[in-house]
Amino acid sequence: MAAELFYASVAELSRRLAEGGVSSVELTRAVIERTGTVDPTVRAFNSGDEADALRQAEASDQRRAAGKTMGVLDGIPIGLKDVIAVKDQPLTASSRMLAGFVSPYDATVTNRLKSAGAVLWGRLNLDEFAMGSSTENSAMHPTCNPWDTGCVPGGSSGGSAAAVAAGEVIAALGSDTGGSIRQPAAFCGVVGLKPTYGLVSRFGLVAFASSLDQIGPMTRTVEDAALLLQVIAGHDERDSTSFRAEIPDYRAALQTKQGPWKIGIPREYFGDGLDPEVAAAVDKAVAFYRGQGCEIREVSLPHTRYCLDAYYVIATAEASSNLARYDGIRYGHRAKEATDVVDLYCQSRAEGFGDEVKRRIILGTYVLSSGYYDAYYLRAQKVRTLIRQDFLKAYEEVDVLLTPTTPTPAFKFGAKADPLALYLCDIYTIGVNLAGLPAVSLPCGFSGAGLPIGLQLIGRPFQEANLLAVAHAFEQAHDWHRRRPQL
Ligand code: GLN
Repeated sequence: MAAELFYASVAELSRRLAEGGVSSVELTRAVIERTGTVDPTVRAFNSGDEADALRQAEASDQRRAAGKTMGVLDGIPIGLKDVIAVKDQPLTASSRMLAGFVSPYDATVTNRLKSAGAVLWGRLNLDEFAMGSSTENSAMHPTCNPWDTGCVPGGSSGGSAAAVAAGEVIAALGSDTGGSIRQPAAFCGVVGLKPTYGLVSRFGLVAFASSLDQIGPMTRTVEDAALLLQVIAGHDERDSTSFRAEIPDYRAALQTKQGPWKIGIPREYFGDGLDPEVAAAVDKAVAFYRGQGCEIREVSLPHTRYCLDAYYVIATAEASSNLARYDGIRYGHRAKEATDVVDLYCQSRAEGFGDEVKRRIILGTYVLSSGYYDAYYLRAQKVRTLIRQDFLKAYEEVDVLLTPTTPTPAFKFGAKADPLALYLCDIYTIGVNLAGLPAVSLPCGFSGAGLPIGLQLIGRPFQEANLLAVAHAFEQAHDWHRRRPQL
């Protein structure tokens, strides 16, 4: 009984909690125990405060006994990527720069989860400052893919994806700047939703590239993603990019929004470099929707080939500016032997940041420097507009776009030692961030080697309700999301 508790969905557990069949303390103990068993292998956690989690669970059970339950998430253990601030808990961004740092405040999403009664359990590993696609860039340790521990879990939210897939948390939050929710979700066989830019507040998220970053749910089912999104979405005056959008009932929409939909297949996402097993799984998904009476149309996003270039100019420029705050003065790593203030900056940053972060800061500083700004940054912004227009044009014809999430299933550790090879993993996910759109990855099959394959659905701005309904229709008719790794 307890053995399957940690693998149940949020929706199912919330029913069981309501019926009194299980308590939050039992459930929280089950995930803590599971973490103790599998995390020495998976290594999804940077830290986890067991006593604190159990205290939250007790409080939830007491609320329930008093008839004051706070909603569907009340009592459910949820993990946070270690870039999302929780008051009085460590916040490392998996960087030496923030080792030992304790957050003085809650992120808005944290606050909302707490107000919904969720039990916060686990600070989950990532590529340092969310820069990477494999968690190999973590300064703490790499996380392993629960389906094959010789393979990466993807990144940068690799810890979140692996923890959900391995039953160490019931659901998690990740962040997505160029694919960091969807790519690891695809690699670990879970659902990952990147919401529309502006739907979820980033207050209290360690900033990487502010015009691209979004926080979103990583779950075992589409319904669970809807439940988490419900809690974290909505305007926040502490994030100036947060949009005043009407928040619909996302779970209800899974039933009320029915197809057939018009589905666009962007030609540019099915070219060279797409693994045949991934292509075959995605083709089957297309056939499924066709069988449901959906109209399938080939569309073109002609500026797709500039996505990677535009992203690595814009994201690095913004990162170089955001990371300027780590100067060894106010917080973060401080070099011990510095002789003067400039030396203190230089040494603290040289010691605190890892290689990939340094590479991005150097590149970003270059593209922003006077004389190069127009040639690189400004031009990339113009290209970005063209990329967004491609999508908006496609949406004149179709409701959603369907693509593979990644060109290949998870790869072996060390297989992409060349940074460019790693950057190419995001080829199907970064256009979505540049255009500010919502997109979800969900399991759509397995490779011959037993690794999960992800299907990406991309929606119109702020049409998460519809997007999730399209994803739900696929999930309901398949069993991929019910498979569990052997650990
Ligand atoms: N892999 C991409 C990068 O390294 C995207 C990361 C992300 O979405 N945070 O920048």
